[in-house]
Amino acid sequence: TATNTEAVIAQTEKHGARNYHPLPVVISKAEGVWVEDPEGRRYMDMLSAYSALNQGHRHPKIIQALKDQADHVTLTSRAFHNDQLGRFYEKVSAVTKKELVLPMNTGAEAVETAVKAARRWAYRRKGVTHDQAEIIACHGNFHGRTMTAVSLAAAEADGTDFGPMLPGIRSVAYGDLNALKQAITPNTAAFLVEPIQGEGGVVMPPEGFLKQARELCRENNVLFIADEIQTGLCRTGRTFACDWEDVVPDMYILGKALGGGVFPISCVAADEEVLGVFEPGSHGSTFGGNPLGAAVACASLDVLEEEGLAERSDRLGTYFRERLGRIDNPKIKEIRGRGLFIGVELTVPARESCEKLKDEGLLCKETRENVIRFAPPLVIDEADLDWALEKIESVLQAL
Ligand code: PLP
Repeated sequence: TATNTEAVIAQTEKHGARNYHPLPVVISKAEGVWVEDPEGRRYMDMLSAYSALNQGHRHPKIIQALKDQADHVTLTSRAFHNDQLGRFYEKVSAVTKKELVLPMNTGAEAVETAVKAARRWAYRRKGVTHDQAEIIACHGNFHGRTMTAVSLAAAEADGTDFGPMLPGIRSVAYGDLNALKQAITPNTAAFLVEPIQGEGGVVMPPEGFLKQARELCRENNVLFIADEIQTGLCRTGRTFACDWEDVVPDMYILGKALGGGVFPISCVAADEEVLGVFEPGSHGSTFGGNPLGAAVACASLDVLEEEGLAERSDRLGTYFRERLGRIDNPKIKEIRGRGLFIGVELTVPARESCEKLKDEGLLCKETRENVIRFAPPLVIDEADLDWALEKIESVLQAL
């Protein structure tokens, strides 16, 4: 079997569909913020699996929960109860302050769930005519890779050859309150928004937008749904990115760090009025709410709270951005973000910088063409962060 980097990459590329273009590095071990390749080269992880690793790689408490639960029961399906799901509901409900929780596995499935719930709510609670419900999404959004998610992004994804797209979707400029106002009709079920667009390039809406959009939705009896899959669970320096504007959405969509980088688990959380629209048989998943995932998610949520990771992200993120801001290079167009969720927009493609950073021992990935995203595990300590900043400063200085 393949063991060295070159052989592993060749083996991977031979039969793998070509839907990704990874940096040429193989990770075979990881702990905390550090990963290691088969030759023993160490790298700092500055991507955190798109914020699924907020608690760091293989957090001992989360791994222990995984092992303990594996010794009891891993899967029951929802045909029967399991003894972990109730705990999970309690914890998610406490964090989101929502009455009901619906567990799925991946982020995209949770987005599907949110769209199904919103449509049902429109027909059964709001009184929208059958099959006329509309969802408003934002230009530049990323909600996953399923057909619903792709359809939500379709306003700009012309030429993908994945059509026909799901009907009933409108798209407005991100952060444009007036455009949102114009797009709302009596048939609008929901406004679906990432409080900061992650894959879009760590794009932040104008200050006050989320709050005003939330109000606009309330006035028009439209659900405000926050896709906090990437921004939620402490990444931006608050539990949820919506917290920055004291916005309480009608529904949260969560994933990624909910599984602590160990197990895929996602969910939506909303009050009875909204999530109450599902009766038995109308939605679900064989693996959704499985006891292994539920136990892992409980530990993952505990770690975020016990280790004060929101506060840590806020503090270290401010420091990080401040240091980046001192780099004097006209090729740096903008530095933005909240907490340890940082985008550095360049005037040139970002891929080359990511490759240079890799050579310096730092793993990050460009998002869109020109943006480097820095999103280390939130457990990063000050010394490691300083080490990283020195490397980043030298690479960006020499750009
Ligand atoms: N929504 C947002 C905001 C995301 O960032 C992502 C993943 O990057 C998803 C949804 C999709 O999640 P998954 O890849 O787990 O399906």
